[in-house]
Amino acid sequence: MRLANERGFLEAIFQSIQEGVLAVDSQGRLLYANRATEQMLGFEYAKLRGRSVMRLLRDLDWDRLLRITDADEWSRMVTREVEVAYPEHRHLSLYAVPLPDLGGVGDAVAAGPSVLIILRDVTRDRAEEATALESERTNAVKLLAAGVAHEIGNPLNALNIHLQLLSRAVAALPEQSRDEFGDLVDVARNEVGRLDTIITQFLRAVRPQKPVFAAGDVADLLQETLRLMKTEIENRRIDVAVEFPGEVPKVQIDRHQIKQVFFNLIKNALEAMPDGGSLKIAMQASDVWLEVAFLDTGVGFGPEQMGRLFQPYQTTKANGNGLGLMIVQRIVQEHGGQIEVASRPGEGSCFRIMLPRASRRIRMLSTTAEKG
Ligand code: ADP
Ligand code: MG
Repeated sequence: MRLANERGFLEAIFQSIQEGVLAVDSQGRLLYANRATEQMLGFEYAKLRGRSVMRLLRDLDWDRLLRITDADEWSRMVTREVEVAYPEHRHLSLYAVPLPDLGGVGDAVAAGPSVLIILRDVTRDRAEEATALESERTNAVKLLAAGVAHEIGNPLNALNIHLQLLSRAVAALPEQSRDEFGDLVDVARNEVGRLDTIITQFLRAVRPQKPVFAAGDVADLLQETLRLMKTEIENRRIDVAVEFPGEVPKVQIDRHQIKQVFFNLIKNALEAMPDGGSLKIAMQASDVWLEVAFLDTGVGFGPEQMGRLFQPYQTTKANGNGLGLMIVQRIVQEHGGQIEVASRPGEGSCFRIMLPRASRRIRMLSTTAEKG
């Protein structure tokens, strides 16, 4: 009786939330779907239960998605945006996490690991973003943001230059005062650097820019980003190894934005390894994707943090702003890409960015074009 009641209670909750909740087994067969999912994807749970749902989300890389159930001790997640044409044209933001083997759920088809998928309808956000680009209110905000950037950017630049001059002057002092003042100047320069990052990140968050795509060399861009971060990497005693087999194909990217993605991910990896460690960056090309994986040997995190990872202002750092990964997600989704995360406390994390090879983007563009 109690079990039945509890089941009814949970069912009522699932049925009333706006997010689509969907569970599939490791073969992609439907185990559970709530009402929101039925509406978003246009099917009836009762009729489809136990059958494959892969065709409902065609754009999804099912092979890969179902592989996240491969058992090891790391917690995992996949996130991306998908476009569906039926029953209505929609943009859905999708999160997938593996569920442990529960030994068969309800009247489930097959025991074994399964995948829980959360769908959020972002069509409205997308449409609003498009019209809002022109709206007066956003223009005002954009103007204000640009104004702030300008107003703060200039004195910050001046501060930076003067601190550089100061550190040169300090270098000429006798040894004891050199050390003492040198440290003070270093602290000040670090803080200026931090302010600069905060402003840049903040502006990126409030003023997202439409990507401008061009064929780009991702390996090259990665080296460029690493050069930019060289000092920090050395100071933190972190070994960086970049791996790519053979030639890395060019993909359609906004160089600026992808560089920001690399920067944010490398920065997080460095910050996760306060006592040094190693960062492996591995590139790999498949038919569909160009993948860049960032593997660190840092502090890692558990499953409870997975779902919050990409939310703005979610940070575990005293100096963090919690915007870095949100920006990463936004940029990757606008590139039609996918992000996979795996982590384990005390062992490290892996952030894998997957960018579509040219063919895929063209297809996405042409379907939008057809719709006029
Ligand atoms: P911030 O770096 O300002 O905290 P982010 O959005 O970049 O914000 O990251 C959000 C949170 O995700 C971090 O505070 C941290 O807890 C966690 N995180 C991100 N990357 C890693 C990583 N490589 N290893 C461990 N934790 C990470
Ligand atoms: Mg960060």
